[in-house]
Amino acid sequence: MVYRSLKTYESIQLADNFYGYIWQGNGNNCNTCLLVDVLRGDRPHIIIDPGHITNEFGENCFDYLAKAMQENGFKVEDIGLIINTHSHIDHCQANEMVVQKSGAWVTLSEEEDEFRRTSGERLNSMLGSKNPEFKPLFYLKEGELNLGAKNKVSLQVFLTPGHSPGSICLYWPETKILVTGDVVFYGSIGRTDFPGGSLSLLKKSVDRLSQLDVDYVFPGHRTEYGNVIKDKTNVKRNFQAVKLFL
Ligand SMILES: [Zn+2]
Repeated sequence: MVYRSLKTYESIQLADNFYGYIWQGNGNNCNTCLLVDVLRGDRPHIIIDPGHITNEFGENCFDYLAKAMQENGFKVEDIGLIINTHSHIDHCQANEMVVQKSGAWVTLSEEEDEFRRTSGERLNSMLGSKNPEFKPLFYLKEGELNLGAKNKVSLQVFLTPGHSPGSICLYWPETKILVTGDVVFYGSIGRTDFPGGSLSLLKKSVDRLSQLDVDYVFPGHRTEYGNVIKDKTNVKRNFQAVKLFL
């Protein structure tokens, strides 16, 4: 059965160049970020975690994402770089669609790429899913990631293993936005029962993130409590709450 919902993405603009696409469909899919007009040349946008092509409910997630982006005036064809927070298929299955349409480069951490090609592949074949196909152009390392002319956007990459071995989070000091993938959610933390998961590593990762000065947490999925966590007080409170799970 194909489930349809009228509005499958809600878009939210958190800074001049930062758009969040929050998944509202029935089945599983991740939230997506778009950093617009950052890179030089004719493909200036950067996408973080394009998500599923089609999910377990038969929802055409990527088509919906492309439509939601278009409503804000952005085209998949204008994406120059894909950043993956980690390699689970609900975050990077659609990499190949973006690459097909725009020729975008792909990047993730080396640890996560190694996992994708080994245990991750075994997990997907056990589940009967196709392993996500892409070739990273370079690997993300802990530290600064300067993007665009005159370092238009300067992100800090944090290696935050626990949910998966090479998960990364991205912090943008200028806007105080923290993109957490599946490490921290509103009122919750990422699962650690998948291959390569580790609760003790997740604890260390969450501890590190909780030291940052953050106005917005943009998580990889919604929970029953919410999506984006806004303002410092709520962010602090959320870190205190999720530490109780660890
Ligand atoms: Zn995940």
